[in-house]
Amino acid sequence: MIVVMQQHCNDEAIEHVMSFLKDHGLSGHLSQGVERTIIGVLGAVGPSGTRTTAGGVNPAIGEALEGMPCVEQVIAVSKPYKLASREFHPANTIVEIPAPCTSEGVVRIGDAVVMMAGPCTVESEKQLMTTAEAVRKEGAVVLRGGAFKPSTSPYGFRGMGEEGLKLLAKASKEFGLAVITEVMTPTDVEMVCEYADILQIGTRNMQNYMLLDEVGRVEKPVLLKRGMSATIEEWLLAAEYVLSQGNPNVILCERGIRTFERTTRNTMDISAIPVIKRLSHLPIIADPSQGTGHRDLVSAMSLASIAAGADGLLVEVHPNPDEALKDGAQSLTLDQFKSLMPQVQSVSAAIGRKLITG
Ligand code: PEP
Ligand code: MN
Repeated sequence: MIVVMQQHCNDEAIEHVMSFLKDHGLSGHLSQGVERTIIGVLGAVGPSGTRTTAGGVNPAIGEALEGMPCVEQVIAVSKPYKLASREFHPANTIVEIPAPCTSEGVVRIGDAVVMMAGPCTVESEKQLMTTAEAVRKEGAVVLRGGAFKPSTSPYGFRGMGEEGLKLLAKASKEFGLAVITEVMTPTDVEMVCEYADILQIGTRNMQNYMLLDEVGRVEKPVLLKRGMSATIEEWLLAAEYVLSQGNPNVILCERGIRTFERTTRNTMDISAIPVIKRLSHLPIIADPSQGTGHRDLVSAMSLASIAAGADGLLVEVHPNPDEALKDGAQSLTLDQFKSLMPQVQSVSAAIGRKLITG
């Protein structure tokens, strides 16, 4: 349920609604936008810190709220996710991150189109620096690179850990790029926050609820990948975990889903992009590298994603993909990345959007 307040409502009226909700075992989530003030009605916080759903709110409560001073309207939110829904928050969420290489010094994800690029995994200082320099030169503003790698096989490369984070911080400082990197466990969140501008939650952890709670309690933006077998509703409910802990800066990432098709590593669900735009206010970016598994398919899926309304791309790039320790087959060469950028710029311009470049 959402309570829409009148445009010039006073603090007293807001307080009145909030305490009424509290008295009825519910909690209010206040969102004061430029145009209107809305209060999202959520289930109460239970003894274990979890929220019970407000889905079954007694209709009499809605009626009582409607009669309160300065309440314009009470809208039932039909979705199980509330804070993530567009019904709750009609305007697009813009996630701002520092990016010294840009003219404004920040990137607003959800506004202009953003390119995040770099190796799948940080392998060495030379590999990372070479890649960072090359992607920066072509206009990327966020450097990607995994230091903690989820590996399907226990014998696969698991990443350099904190050493890798230090290298990312070094590259960030040298080239003015923001950094996105994956965090896999709640106990690593604090450490990863010291080095990263965006915390990546990988596909395998989309339903790791303890991890979602933990990244919901920090201030760093979170990029939440879609689980490889997750429905859009499950994905938005995972985002709801982060939002309901108080972190409003969630970016969704479509990275392909598992289907019967084996020609590609995953099936890029391009339609998820406009569906998310309709259902949610959160920015969405696309990862055509995990999405296809083949570097010769990455450009086409990058352009298709931007045309479908994605707010940016997360692309794997490697100076020598054939020797990559992870995901070489889907990593673009530096030359391929160079050719991709002007194409992304053209498609962005064709749909009236600007590609932010460093
Ligand atoms: C990655 O970005 O390298 C990665 C492991 O992604 P995903 O979690 O989508 O598989
Ligand atoms: Mn990868």
